[in-house]
Amino acid sequence: MTPIEQSDKRDDHQSRLASVGQIAAGIAHEVRNPLTAVKGFLQLLGEQTPHNYIDIAQQELDNAIVTLQNLLNVSRPDAESEPMVGFSLCAELEAILGLFQDQFYRVAVNKHFTDGTTEIVGRRNQLKKVFFNILKNAFEAIPGEGTIEIGHSLEGDSVRVSITDTGVGIPQDKLAMLGTPFFTTKTDGTGMGLAYVFSSVYQHGGTVDVQSVEGQGTAFTFHFPIRGTKERDLAFMDLLYEQDMKLGEFLKINRGEFEHCLLAEAENVKGIIEDIKRIGGIDLVQNAHILVGLLIDQNDWEIINFAQQEGKLWAQHSSLNLAVKLEWFQAIRRVLWSFMYNFDRLSGNESTREQFFSLERQTNNSLDTFLRHFFMSYTKFKDDQIKSHKEMIDDLSVPIIPLTSSVSILPLLGMIDSHRIHVIQEKVLQQIGLLKIRTLLIDMSGAAFLDTTNLRKLSRILNGISYMGVKAIITGIRPEVANTMINSKVIIDRRIETKGTLQQALEQLGLNLN
Ligand code: ADP
Ligand code: MG
Repeated sequence: MTPIEQSDKRDDHQSRLASVGQIAAGIAHEVRNPLTAVKGFLQLLGEQTPHNYIDIAQQELDNAIVTLQNLLNVSRPDAESEPMVGFSLCAELEAILGLFQDQFYRVAVNKHFTDGTTEIVGRRNQLKKVFFNILKNAFEAIPGEGTIEIGHSLEGDSVRVSITDTGVGIPQDKLAMLGTPFFTTKTDGTGMGLAYVFSSVYQHGGTVDVQSVEGQGTAFTFHFPIRGTKERDLAFMDLLYEQDMKLGEFLKINRGEFEHCLLAEAENVKGIIEDIKRIGGIDLVQNAHILVGLLIDQNDWEIINFAQQEGKLWAQHSSLNLAVKLEWFQAIRRVLWSFMYNFDRLSGNESTREQFFSLERQTNNSLDTFLRHFFMSYTKFKDDQIKSHKEMIDDLSVPIIPLTSSVSILPLLGMIDSHRIHVIQEKVLQQIGLLKIRTLLIDMSGAAFLDTTNLRKLSRILNGISYMGVKAIITGIRPEVANTMINSKVIIDRRIETKGTLQQALEQLGLNLN
């Protein structure tokens, strides 16, 4: 086919698709929504009074909704707006082929892949669907045994992919119908596959050629422009742009695409956005827009405020992982830069080196300001939280429990380290005054470990209590503690009593617990 013919055919297809697209969009709004509502009511009905007709009706409705969705996808395959990335079609073809393994017993597949590292620029999943549809048709066209040849090669500045089958072929008069939505010769066909293929390939700046001989087979040949050196590492995006637009406006009208790219970048965050909204009431997507807006306005003071707010919110919810926030932040940074690149590209007046580096400084400075203040506020809140937790734990670790108006008990539990000793000293002296304690029982049967230094300190506290006129009774001294006392010659004031068990001490005080 000559280039003119090629483009005629393409325009023809595109106008046909465009008119179908308009109808589809109209239908979708008018019909899909009520259908979805009907489905909802049916479900409610089904829950009240189950009936198998309801199940059938729901299935039929599902089919209708899927058909509408397919029609929409065909008319606008990029509606799912995937980011454009550089990738090799070879790898994708290999992966798709794997989905047809159950056919390999009857159809031989021969691959002729060369130039496997050559990349094209495109929407990876969209093109995956394209080749899935082509291969599906090829397998379906072969009634019994047959062969499919798949080729990949570099041809000038485009990648050529060919898929040839030894199937039933297509009659010459039907060739022109290919790509028209709903055109199918299969009893259970939808006629959507090729329509999707054609419009997707055109959107990628590619071409499709079909050669077919009835009874012999069909060959589909595709050409896609290869990724030039200029596009390397930079994402070329189809974004809206109007003459003399400001970066802020550009980001605003491409808001949807920005969100989409952000979610694609932050792979691990994507799935938990809803959870984060539910748990912490934090809307990450919304916050990304706010941050970007502040960056564009270069409002550093607001950035700091926002960062502090966010840091605190994040710290308040222990279930929110900091790694998630970091990944999200990095995704914002990356996507913002790709958008700035595309803005620069679309605006046509390419910036000078000085302009670029000044923009780089400004943007990265502001982003760093955000991150710094986020972490400062996060850490401060966490530190405060830890401090107040510690105070609470300290309080709980030295419980002085009043038994009568003058008798209290202090059970020492667990590890008694120098920090605990310190807390014990403060609390005991304070509580003695407060509770007017005359007798303090100190039960050590639950104390796990006491080294010489801490034992000395403890004995000093006990002696102090005695000096204050309080009778101290120590119970439950464990053999290892007694040993340390003897070995380190700890002297206890003679007014301090010791008793084997807490029970004995209570009995002596006339406090029978039985
Ligand atoms: P469907 O597969 O649901 O019929 P498609 O849009 O994928 O819809 O294909 C439309 C029609 O094009 C098919 O019904 C078939 O008649 C014809 N066709 C497509 N690919 C081939 C092929 N490789 N060999 C023969 N006929 C084909
Ligand atoms: Mg098909």
